[in-house]
Amino acid sequence: MRSFVHTAYPARVVFGAGTLARVGDEVERLGCSRALVAAGPSLADTATRLGDTLGPLAAARFTGAAMHTPVEVTEEALEVAREHAVDCVVAVGGGSTTGLAKAIALRTGIPQVVLPTTYSGSEVTPVLGETSQGEKTTRSAVEVLPETVVYDVELTLGLPVGLSVTSGVNAMAHAVEALYSEQANPVIDGFALDAITRMARALPAIAADPSDVDGRADALHAAWLAGTCLASVGMGLHHKLCHTLGGMFGLPHAETHTVVLPHAMAYNAPAAPETMCRVAEALGTCDAPAAVHDLVASLGGPTSLDEVGLPESELGRAAELAVAKPYPNPRELTLAGITGLLEGAWRGRRPRDRGLIDAARDTEH
Ligand code: NAD
Repeated sequence: MRSFVHTAYPARVVFGAGTLARVGDEVERLGCSRALVAAGPSLADTATRLGDTLGPLAAARFTGAAMHTPVEVTEEALEVAREHAVDCVVAVGGGSTTGLAKAIALRTGIPQVVLPTTYSGSEVTPVLGETSQGEKTTRSAVEVLPETVVYDVELTLGLPVGLSVTSGVNAMAHAVEALYSEQANPVIDGFALDAITRMARALPAIAADPSDVDGRADALHAAWLAGTCLASVGMGLHHKLCHTLGGMFGLPHAETHTVVLPHAMAYNAPAAPETMCRVAEALGTCDAPAAVHDLVASLGGPTSLDEVGLPESELGRAAELAVAKPYPNPRELTLAGITGLLEGAWRGRRPRDRGLIDAARDTEH
């Protein structure tokens, strides 16, 4: 028997193709009538379409959302929100835009409708990361959880293949780490395994044809499941390492996750063999870390920290910082171990599940 505790966060999820048309109904369902339409500069046209769909329900628009949710940008958006007396925020974009919506909700208490266009999963988590004067702080509070998420597969058709791959592996990382989390539970295990299988089959389909609606639907569905994993249970080495690398060296979020994931999996594999078996099964393979590496490499990468901009001279400092504060992880974090992991990731080596290699050697002898 397995005892467990599961916390489910409330969220209304509308999933489909063309669901953008239903956003007005969702705004009214929340009892709102003056929406702030929020987006980043590259999705300004989508924000216009969203504004047109909302008609008189759209009271204002802000298209300055930026990476890592800088507080200065939030202040600008709040100014617009106050000026137009908005009573909700409707945000369309990736994790950065969702971050802006959450930051506005935290400061005003107004509800959010979020239309995700990447696979970050932020839209279903009660977590907000913000930057002020170059420093990133993260908080967890139910007040920042979006009330309604409208997944419109059509909004993701234009997500470039490279971004789809890195964002997809970012989602996969939430699912993998959920499986060996201290708070792991059977509900989240089911979500995680489904997310891994869906994402692994979706990414090659998207790379072959970015407008493949079924592939896109699989990926977006996986992103929702993986985001739910991230919301519900604590993450380990992989997320902490990416957070450290992102915060210290300004490395791009999803790309860093993409490079680090197979290496973090290989590091943890000896201490979490059962999890790695389940991940491998979900991927239809036997060596899970190698399979994730091969998937990324076959879709054009990135596979090395060198590629994403980490100077080799910083590996030692990064490793020291990564082990400075202890946190729950299946395998003990040692400076030598993390240095080795980072060196392999910097060079883009193909990581293997050591447990499998050792087992094969034992069988031979
Ligand atoms: P992002 O939101 O920064 O988007 C990356 C780029 O893709 C941007 O230039 C954006 O304009 C563009 N883009 C997004 N959707 C597009 C589309 N459909 N078509 C074309 N271009 C598109 O990247 P992200 O990886 O989604 O989010 C990263 C941020 O989210 C980071 O700040 C990260 O910390 C945060 N995040 C937070 C959580 C959480 O739970 N709080 C979870 C995951 C990520």
